[in-house]
Amino acid sequence: MKVAKFGGSSVSNAKQIKKVLKIVNEDPERKIIIVSAPGKRSKDDIKTTDLLIRLYEKAINNIDYQHKKQEIIQRYADIVDELDMDRDILDTIDHTLEHYIHELKDKPSRLYDAIVSCGEDFNAQLIATYNNSQGIPTRYISPKEAGIWVTDLPKQAQILDSSYEQIYKLNDYKEKLIIPGFFGVSKHNFIVTFPRGGSDITGAIIARGVRASLYENFTDVSGIYKANPNIIKDPEIIEEITYREMRELSYAGFSVFHDEALQPLHKDRIPVVIKNTNRPEDKGTYILHDREINSKNVISGISCDKDFTVINIKKYLMNRQVGFTRKVLGVFEDYNISFDHMPSGIDNISIVMRSNQIKNIESRVLNDIQKHCDVDELSIDHDLAILMIVGEGMNRVVGTASKITHALAESNINLKMINQGASEISMMFGIKVEDAEKAVRSTYEFCYHGVCIKE
Ligand code: ASP
Repeated sequence: MKVAKFGGSSVSNAKQIKKVLKIVNEDPERKIIIVSAPGKRSKDDIKTTDLLIRLYEKAINNIDYQHKKQEIIQRYADIVDELDMDRDILDTIDHTLEHYIHELKDKPSRLYDAIVSCGEDFNAQLIATYNNSQGIPTRYISPKEAGIWVTDLPKQAQILDSSYEQIYKLNDYKEKLIIPGFFGVSKHNFIVTFPRGGSDITGAIIARGVRASLYENFTDVSGIYKANPNIIKDPEIIEEITYREMRELSYAGFSVFHDEALQPLHKDRIPVVIKNTNRPEDKGTYILHDREINSKNVISGISCDKDFTVINIKKYLMNRQVGFTRKVLGVFEDYNISFDHMPSGIDNISIVMRSNQIKNIESRVLNDIQKHCDVDELSIDHDLAILMIVGEGMNRVVGTASKITHALAESNINLKMINQGASEISMMFGIKVEDAEKAVRSTYEFCYHGVCIKE
C-alpha cells in the first residue's frame, strides 16, 4: 500500500484538486492521502496558512478580524463553487474558526496552533467529501482519529513512539482515507503543529505507521534538482538519493522535502519518491536507504546556504590543554546555542552556527568566552556561506576533493574553511556570502560537465 502526500500548490484550487484525485483514484494502492492547506495559485498569491497566521495576529491583538476570516472562507468558497459542492462546509469553517478564537484566546500559543492547523483540516474535509460525491468511497480522518499523538510543545510537535500502533490500524479501512497534514494532538488534547512545511512529516509518520511500500510526495517539480534552479538553469534531476544524502542537502538549503520527515522513514527503510502532480508520468526522485554508485553519480547534489556566523578562537598550545573545548562549548550551552560545524587546528577552533542562533546575544557570548576560557584571540565573522557537496560515492572514489577545489580556485573563490566528516558523505566549504552563487555554478559545471569556469 502506498501513502501519497500532496503539497500546497497541488491542492490550491479546484483544477489542481481534480488532478490530485485523478492520480489517487487511478491507483488502488494509493489508499492513504495526506493533504496540505491550499497553497499559492500564482506567484503573488498568499498561502492559506499565512492568511491563518494573519487572522491569529488580529484575533490575539483584539483587532477586528472579520475581514481576514472572510478572506480565508473565500479561499474555500472558490474551491467549493468550482467543484459544484454544497456550501454547508463553509459554515463549518466559519464556526470552527470562531470556536477556536473564543475558546483559546487566553492561551496564545495554543490558539496559534489550532488556527494554523485549520488550513489542512478544512482542505482534507472538503477533498474527502468531494471524492465521495464522485462515487469513490472516501473518508476524512482527523489526526486524532488516525492516532497522531505528539509532544506538547507548540509549533514543534514530535511524534510519540507509542502512536505507531494505533496508526497501523488505518490498514483496516476499506475506503480511501484523506488525512490533513501538519499537526497532531497532544495527550492534553491540544492541537500541536509540526514546523512549517510539516505536512511532509505527517506523510512520513503515516507511511511508517502503516508500513507502506512507498511514500509518494507530490509537489510541483519533477524531483529533486542536483543544484538550486534559481542559480543553475535547468539543472538535472537526481534519480536516486539516500536518506543520509538528502538530510545533508536539505540542511543546506534543499527545501523540496522536509528534513524532519526523513527520521520516521529511514528506520524502517520506507522508500520515498518525490513526484510532480502536474506531470505524474515523470519518474521523480527516489529517496532510499542505499543506491548504486557509478562514475556519473558520485556526487548527488550541491547546495549552498547563507546566514552562517563563525566564532574563531585562538589559544596557544590549545592541543595540550585538557578541557578547553568543553569550557568554550559550556558558554554555548549557557545561551542555548546549537552549532553546526567545529573545524579545528592545533591552536585554534572555529564554531559555525546559524546566524539567528546568536542574534542579539553576540557581545554577551563573546564576553563570556573571553572571561571563562582565557583565549589569546577571539573574532566573529558574519560573512559566511556554506557550500555542501554531497555524495555517498565520495568515500569510494579518489579525487573528488581535488576536483572541487580546482573548480573553486579557477573561479577565484577563497576557501575560508574546509571540513569533511569521517563518513565521507559530504564536504563542507566555508566561503564568503558574495561567492555563494558563483561557487555553486563553478562546482556544478566542473563536477557534472567537466566545464571549468575561469575568472
Ligand atoms: N501548510 C503548512 C505550511 O505552509 C504545512 C505544509 O504545507 O506542509 O507550512
